[in-house]
Amino acid sequence: MKWWKLKGLYSDEKWHGPCFVKTDARGIIVSIGEDAPEKFEAIDGLAIPGFLNAHSHAFQYSMVGLSENLPPGAKGDDFWSWRKVMYELAGKISPEGLQAIATMLYAEMARMGITHVAEFHYVHHQANGEAFDDVGEMGKRLYAAAKEVGINITLLPVFYQRGGFGKGALPEQKRFISSTTNDYLKLLESLEVSDPLFSLGVCVHSLRAVDGPQVLEAFLNTDKKLPAHIHIAEQEKEVQSCLQHLGKRPVEWLLDNLELNDRYNLVHATHLDNNETHNLAQSGANVVICPTTEANLGDGLFNLVEYLKVGGQFSIGTDGNFNLNPLQELRLLDYGQRLKLKKRNIMCLADGQDSGEILFNLTRKAGLKAMGIKDHQALKVGDPFDVAVINPDHPVLASKKNEYLLSALIYSADSSVFSGNIVAGNWVIKNGKHIKIEKISETFKKAQLELLG
Ligand SMILES: [Zn+2]
Repeated sequence: MKWWKLKGLYSDEKWHGPCFVKTDARGIIVSIGEDAPEKFEAIDGLAIPGFLNAHSHAFQYSMVGLSENLPPGAKGDDFWSWRKVMYELAGKISPEGLQAIATMLYAEMARMGITHVAEFHYVHHQANGEAFDDVGEMGKRLYAAAKEVGINITLLPVFYQRGGFGKGALPEQKRFISSTTNDYLKLLESLEVSDPLFSLGVCVHSLRAVDGPQVLEAFLNTDKKLPAHIHIAEQEKEVQSCLQHLGKRPVEWLLDNLELNDRYNLVHATHLDNNETHNLAQSGANVVICPTTEANLGDGLFNLVEYLKVGGQFSIGTDGNFNLNPLQELRLLDYGQRLKLKKRNIMCLADGQDSGEILFNLTRKAGLKAMGIKDHQALKVGDPFDVAVINPDHPVLASKKNEYLLSALIYSADSSVFSGNIVAGNWVIKNGKHIKIEKISETFKKAQLELLG
């Protein structure tokens, strides 16, 4: 048992003043109160529930900045040329390299208040396409990275079968491939790890990468408790190919072929028509929006306001890991919509609502579903003590009434507002620094040098 003293706590979607939190040996909150215990550790800040990053491809962190130039002879650039650079990297990365990059990445995520990442993992095999002796080798490296950093990970081993609708796999995709549902299920099974900070999810890359009946097999023949993830309708070209091959738009196809519910997490869902928007919201499934990556890749803007009006649920992810700061992701998500609609506070559907609170609380609820967590963990008694510690003296927060804190944080704070990160009652980031950052950073630099030359 341990007592913590806090300057403030955002628990159960309400702000509490200075208080004491008691955690048990597993880092679960057993009481919250105002009476001072004899012994406690004082946290110099406010604690909010740690951010949930519902979509990451760790290895892509290595290539940020490498695809922001127009290739010689190219007449323009889009998603598909970015994918070429990404494939080159995916073709080269070693298990050690992946672990080093992911460890650095997760330490940086932790510094930005993230306490849980969902890792959408598809570089499974050796560079020649053959499986490693342990088929789960690469996935275990990602778990090891999260373990070293000390954050929660939901590993989503990806079922990836082919190069596109009706097309075989490209040579650059050979490290990703599970030819059959059975191969995929074996891979998934090989990645079961017993650790309270680890969980597993089932994941299909996209409708273009897996044959329709096998998409259904993978989702329906796995434990219903596992969260299910899929990339969907990210690019208009993909929607057109889906119409050609399956006769339906991607989300329409999913809605017609699967009983979608809150187990399902549809990543991007950028291009929805009105029926899809409505029916997807009604299904109870969640959308994972990745604002910076979607902007970087020129995907388009999600139909957020219409989706919210009919009760749609959404979380956020850092995807290509161009940006790791969740505040910036939430801000960009809202600003894209404001720019499109030429209106302010577009998510407030009733008087008196606050945009910051809506963004924070809704993305948290759906973020938990993305991790396969059914309870609404909100720093209440019984929840793990997983918090981002923020500095109440940061200029954008100082002297603000509680009701304005989340919006001040989301719309105006930079990453220096985060001073700490605690997962399951253990410090991950203290005084703005990861406890093992020197070692993590050295190993990362060596891996980058080897990979990028
Ligand atoms: Zn993705």
